[in-house]
Amino acid sequence: MKALVYHGPGKKFWEEKPKPTLLEATDAVVKIYKTTICGTDLHILKGDVPEVTDGRILGHEGVGIIEEVGAAVTNFKKGDRVLISCISL
Ligand SMILES: [Zn+2]
Repeated sequence: MKALVYHGPGKKFWEEKPKPTLLEATDAVVKIYKTTICGTDLHILKGDVPEVTDGRILGHEGVGIIEEVGAAVTNFKKGDRVLISCISL
């Protein structure tokens, strides 16, 4: 799948990346149907967010349908329609 990858201030490229998979029992994989850019993305692309380092796949906030959940996920299941916030706990 294609991903927008950050490579430092002002440097971003569309790159081929593997489809996301569950890494932790608390993870979920969501098929995104709608998303958009936000102000945080613009700050990241300018280099204002040092926590975002070279190679980070950009993109946050969206709506979609859960494709898979980890063993510790109890509040959501495959097929649920969800909104992904930019802040996760
Ligand atoms: Zn945002």
